[in-house]
Order: sequence, then C-alpha cells, then structure tokens
Amino acid sequence: MEDIRLLRGRTFDGQNMIENAEIGINIKSGIIEYVDEINGKNNLDITILPGLIDTHIHFFGSESDQLIDWVLTDNVLLTIKSVYDAEALLDAGFTTVRTMGDKVSLGMSKAEKLRILKGPRIISSGYSIAETGGNDDPKFLSHELSKEFSYSYYCDSPWECRKAVRMNIRNGAESIKAYSSRSFVGGGKLKTELTVDELSAISDEAHVAHLKAAAHSYGPDAIQNSLDANFDSIEHGLGITEDQAEFMKKKDIFYVPTLSVYRAKVSSNQERNELVKKHFEKDISIAFNAGVKIATGTDFLGTRNEPHGLNASEIIYLSEFTGNIYALKAATSLAAECLGLNNIGFVKKGFQADIISVKGDPLKEITKVRRGNVIFVMKKGEIIKDIENLIK
Ligand SMILES: [Zn+2]
Repeated sequence: MEDIRLLRGRTFDGQNMIENAEIGINIKSGIIEYVDEINGKNNLDITILPGLIDTHIHFFGSESDQLIDWVLTDNVLLTIKSVYDAEALLDAGFTTVRTMGDKVSLGMSKAEKLRILKGPRIISSGYSIAETGGNDDPKFLSHELSKEFSYSYYCDSPWECRKAVRMNIRNGAESIKAYSSRSFVGGGKLKTELTVDELSAISDEAHVAHLKAAAHSYGPDAIQNSLDANFDSIEHGLGITEDQAEFMKKKDIFYVPTLSVYRAKVSSNQERNELVKKHFEKDISIAFNAGVKIATGTDFLGTRNEPHGLNASEIIYLSEFTGNIYALKAATSLAAECLGLNNIGFVKKGFQADIISVKGDPLKEITKVRRGNVIFVMKKGEIIKDIENLIK
C-alpha cells in the first residue's frame, strides 16, 4: 500500500460538494483508488477539486495582439514562450487544455506525454481549418508566404478540407477546429466562412477518427451552418437563437462562450462591439436557460492582454450567469465531456489523479479558483506543487 497517498478536506468531486472526504491516490498508476466521505469537521479551510480544464486556448508565443506577430514570430522564441505559458497554466491548476489552432501545440502535446514538458495535458487541434482569404489569413503576406507561416490550413472544397483534417491527424491532433465565420481579426464585416458541404466534410473526417469537431462561429448564420454540419461544439457562439439552443440541448452539442476574451479585448469595430454586448446581455442566458451544456474556454493566446495563468477568469465570469457550482462543473466534468475525455474531470474512484486544492471555498466565493489561491496541483498522480504539505 506504500504507493497510496492521501488527501483530506472539503472536496468538489466534479458534481457535488462533499464537506469532508479522504482521497486515496495510487501515485504509481496515477489513478484515484477511492474517495470516502468522512464524518466530523475538517479544520483546514481548503477545497479539493478536479484539475481545471480550459477547452479553448492558443499557444501563440507572443506578447502582441497583432496577427502579424502571431504568424511571423521566430519559431524558437515562440516555442520557448509557449513552454513558459504551459508552466503557468499548470501552476494555476489547469491540468488539461485544448488548443484551437497554433504552430507549436502538436509538438508540446507530444512532449507532455513524454514527460519532458512541465505543462497541462494538451489536446491539440493542430492547425485550424479556414477558407482562403478567411478570418486569420495574413493577407499582408503573399498567398505563398501565408501558406508557409500561418497556423491555419486554407481550404476551398470538401476534399481540401478532408485533406487538412487528415494532415492534422497525421501530425498528432486529438481535436479538430474550423472557422465557420469571421471574427473581425483584420477588420471587415461579419460573414460566414466555409460552406456547409465543406464544414460537413471536416466534421465527418474528424468523427471517423473519433475526434471532436469544434466550430468558431460568430452570428446565427454561422452557428446554423455549424449545427447543420454536425459539429460537436459551438465556440464563441455570438448571436445564438433560442431555436438553436433548443437544438443543441437535444443533440448534446456544447457551447463555449469564451467570455474572458471579450472582457480582455476592446475593439474599434462597431459591429463586433454590438455582437459582444448582446453576448453578455442575452446569449449566455439563452443557452443556459435552454439547458445547453456549457464548458469554460478563455480563448487566451498567451499575449500581454490574454496571459496564460489567468484562465480562471472564465469560471468567474461564467458564474455570474450560471451560479458557482455550475461554473465549477463547466471547468471540470463538463469540460472533460466537451473534449470527449471520460477519464478526467472528476475526483472519483477510477479517474486519473488530476487534482488541485485551493484556499477557501470556491462554492461560496468563486474567486478562490484564481492562481494565487491554488496551493496544490497533481497531474496524472504526479505532485506538481504542494505549498502547504497537504498530501500524506
Ligand atoms: Zn480561439
């Protein structure tokens, strides 16, 4: 039994709060052996939770908010910066992230699996998939240079889309991300991108490989195209309608409203600002009231305004609409479900030991999930940090 280590305290198990629990962790296998409710009060004012999950990030490896830097930053520099960002995420209690288009996360994901990267488990989407001239196509470069330097594949037929998915899978992607609309990167007006035929080819190709397909969708037309094309999650989802929310609830399609990015970034684009205003005023309530499953995703890039390590902001913003316990689920058990991972997201017997502990009680005070309060982090049974010697 010497491989079993113990944690005790108030525990949010991914579903419910247990006032006092003992958790037995097999640190050799990295699996939770048991979670027992114990009688009597615990003296420590700490809360144990499943490791946090951010389902929508990018590793752009740049401090800048400009597309030109996202595509042209030197590869070595951007990799080193991203490794630093991965450490910050893990230190903040994020034991799993999903990347949604960048140049380095496929390699980082492999390095994490080899235990040579100190960072969260990385479910990488590899390169994002978009149309030629689309949202993030760096049009200040020639078409040839754009193809060489962008973090997206630009496709213009269902077969080109299938090839891009296959290329990502070949390179180790565990998720697929496509743009069904613009998002005002580089200005312009809102428009749908990729046709339903193209989007359907992407999701179909992802699904035959047992991967989830996520659609960046701004505006009801783009959301509708993504739903018609059988995507598994709507990312951003600005302008969602009640009918669409009803459909998503019925089909178990996730909503990832990425509130943090809109709080972090101010834009001079009037159309964008109006959509964002409505996002906070109506969209989230439409989705939540319809019973659509919501997962936390910040859309942070690792830039100055959207730094990795502060990703708990999404839980705090979401809680304003859903209450604290739902926001905690959205960052743990629901986020795991959104990513199709059935071995994480809970502190329960048989799950991987991705466990964190924070000072105080986030059910009462949600800001306790912020990085400064995270005193214990364990990933896959490995102790990453234990400031107050909680593990016995
Ligand atoms: Zn994004």
